[in-house]
Amino acid sequence: KTHFRVLKFGGKSLANGEGVERVLDIIAREVQGGGRVAVVLSAREKATDQIKELLSLAASGKDYQEAFNGFEAYQRYEGSRVDMGSLFQDLARLLEGVRLLGDYSPRIEAQALAFGELISVRLMTALLTERGVQAITVDSRKLTRTHGDILNGRVDEETTREQTVEFFDQLPADTVPLVTGFIASNARGETTTLGRNGSNYTAALLANDLNASELRNYTHVDGIYTANPELVSEARRIERLSYDEANELANFGATILHAKTIIPLLEKNIPLRILNTFNPESEGTLISAKPSPEGIRSLSVIENEALIHLEGRGLLGKVGVDARIFKALGQSGISVGIISQGSSERGIGLVVRDEDAKRAKAALEAEFEEDFKTKDINRIHIASEVAVISIVGQDLSSFHKPYSALIRNQVVPLLFNNTVSGRNVSLVVRKADLLKAVHVIHSQIFGIRKKVNLAVFGVGQVGGTLLDQINHSREKIEERKGIELNVFAVANSNQLLLDHEGIGASWKSRLKEAPKGYLFRQLFDYARAHHLENLIAVDNTASEAFVGHYMDLVSNGFDLVSSNKMANTLGFDFYRGLRDALEQKQKQYRYETNVGAGLPLIDTIALLHLSGENITRIRGVFSGSLSYIFNTFSKADIPFSEIVREAREKGYTEPDPREDLCGNDVGRKLLILARELDLQNELADVQIEDLIPKGLRTLEAGAFMDRLEEMDAGFQERKDRQAPGHVLRYVGDLSGDLQQDKGVLEVQLVSVPEESPLGQIRGADSLIEIYTESYGEQPLVIQGAGAGASVTARGVFGDIIRIAETGLADR
Ligand code: ASP
Ligand code: MG
Repeated sequence: KTHFRVLKFGGKSLANGEGVERVLDIIAREVQGGGRVAVVLSAREKATDQIKELLSLAASGKDYQEAFNGFEAYQRYEGSRVDMGSLFQDLARLLEGVRLLGDYSPRIEAQALAFGELISVRLMTALLTERGVQAITVDSRKLTRTHGDILNGRVDEETTREQTVEFFDQLPADTVPLVTGFIASNARGETTTLGRNGSNYTAALLANDLNASELRNYTHVDGIYTANPELVSEARRIERLSYDEANELANFGATILHAKTIIPLLEKNIPLRILNTFNPESEGTLISAKPSPEGIRSLSVIENEALIHLEGRGLLGKVGVDARIFKALGQSGISVGIISQGSSERGIGLVVRDEDAKRAKAALEAEFEEDFKTKDINRIHIASEVAVISIVGQDLSSFHKPYSALIRNQVVPLLFNNTVSGRNVSLVVRKADLLKAVHVIHSQIFGIRKKVNLAVFGVGQVGGTLLDQINHSREKIEERKGIELNVFAVANSNQLLLDHEGIGASWKSRLKEAPKGYLFRQLFDYARAHHLENLIAVDNTASEAFVGHYMDLVSNGFDLVSSNKMANTLGFDFYRGLRDALEQKQKQYRYETNVGAGLPLIDTIALLHLSGENITRIRGVFSGSLSYIFNTFSKADIPFSEIVREAREKGYTEPDPREDLCGNDVGRKLLILARELDLQNELADVQIEDLIPKGLRTLEAGAFMDRLEEMDAGFQERKDRQAPGHVLRYVGDLSGDLQQDKGVLEVQLVSVPEESPLGQIRGADSLIEIYTESYGEQPLVIQGAGAGASVTARGVFGDIIRIAETGLADR
């Protein structure tokens, strides 16, 4: 005896046009494929909702004729000449009765709703027959028997099986039965329904009774997803699930998988495949006895909920409070989604449908009237507009990861709750946080694509180069690391350009058009309004004023990356304060380019220090400009002023070379390194040898350049005075007892042997020696290009990637 395959089509699959045509194709193809096929259909498109609407219009005496005409025109399948018998007249007569009575019973409602499925099956049978497929209409009221609630009937499985088997036994093998889903009848012969979305249940029962080989459930989506793809574009299709896993998902809102649907399949081990009517390519999701390979994880969201909070000290440790809550709400017909005894707060939180919130509050106030008097309860309040996110399959032992990712993104769950099995976690969040929260959790759990939203400040040499580098490497980084870099803000000191969809290669011209003047508030509001997660602010300015915004950025959820040295060289109080704020908000601050541009210097030093290595001295050439000047001057017989002029023209120095020659920049770098070692030095502690003669320090830049020659004699003398085989280097030196609060910081021009590492550097390279206890006399040497826009921008880029990766790494 050949087995049946049961095909079920949902309302959206049966929509006019493409839907209907595809369903006919699929059925015809399945029939040609051999074996026997039984089809279960639901009402087409929104028929069930529309009939409900017609009923309530009629009952309230409103004119429903126009709505009815629209319904009929659609359901007749415009353009088709199918004979629909008296179906529409019968429904019209029923509605007319409701209008006259001004009311309707569940009995009438079930009768009216049945027309949705009856019309659907009648139409599809006729269209299929036109195509030459032999088909008949089967009214499931003759097969499915229910008792109890008319609209939410309980299935009498034995009677249903008998009736079904008997009917199918005498059905000719070459005829395709098109069965109405959703509707049934009771022992009195009255029409009943199986509850909303009941066609899935009808199909599962039929599959069970026929010992079907498979149930293919055709929907308008590709299958079950790791999250609703409409909310999370990164959501993935789940290829296979076990019945148990499907059941878990069903409890959290996946209507296709309603528990009732799964049980008849599980009983006979019939696989269920969720397929997409509109996408024949997709293999959908297969649900069978076999569990998914890595266990399932899925996010589901229930919107439009409200959180009710019973506050009061007296509730703690009291017996029977939960029972009273359930009783009070149960009597008012309100179902409770989640209940949780806050561990931190003194009270109880519970989640109900938003529409029930007011009634729930009233019911609880009545129930707990006495407890208000005794002050065991102080207040009951409602937080509306919340949503429940459930993570199905989440092990509680690893829950801290998505949780801390949420906190890093400034989403604080209002309530959180786990099921007894400990494999599901539900979070209540504000509706305003919902989108951000599901994105953060989803990428944290699945580690798929992670979107990082960047605000780039300063578009000079480094900033501009960085933006170009990002645009250039974006795709590769997404491919290789799964990180999507989205620059949503670009700003100079005067203009702010915002675009949450990403500011691309045309940033320069777009920034020019941006309005003049801005407040940081605008940036924060914008990020919030567009639910931007994983925020990073990049400071490529050299401005001390900008640093004043760091705290604000951190408290508004930004991680920080900067090539600007200011924040690390202001007073030690600010330095500490910023670190405390970062710690408290779980934010990062990276500034690898502050010293030695792209060279991995700060990281190396921080790592050595952190791992307990005792660093005893750090010495080196930190300035690319001064490196170039003294490397050249030491070797060639050229006046000092000529070399400075040349360096300036090549862009190796600042426009006013005194900014390099004064030594402050090197002093700042040395201070930054000292502070990495937990030393509490201030900039004023650094002894800096200023290379500019006193008389030239306060001149206008132009006048200074005119009098550059005045420096020649002095430097020539220092060069000549050296021991043989020595060269001049401008060196920063951190020494002293570095276990104390402060170290000795000196920046000066020194004479070193040509053969030494410092003596050998070339071009504009930097070279830093790190002396440690374990390395002894042999310092660790880091050498390379320590200046220039493109290496600096590359270094900033590296910092951004490291921040972006951390969330993924600690999965
Ligand atoms: N037509 C019914 C409903 O909309 C049953 C179903 O579609 O499964 O709920
Ligand atoms: Mg530099």
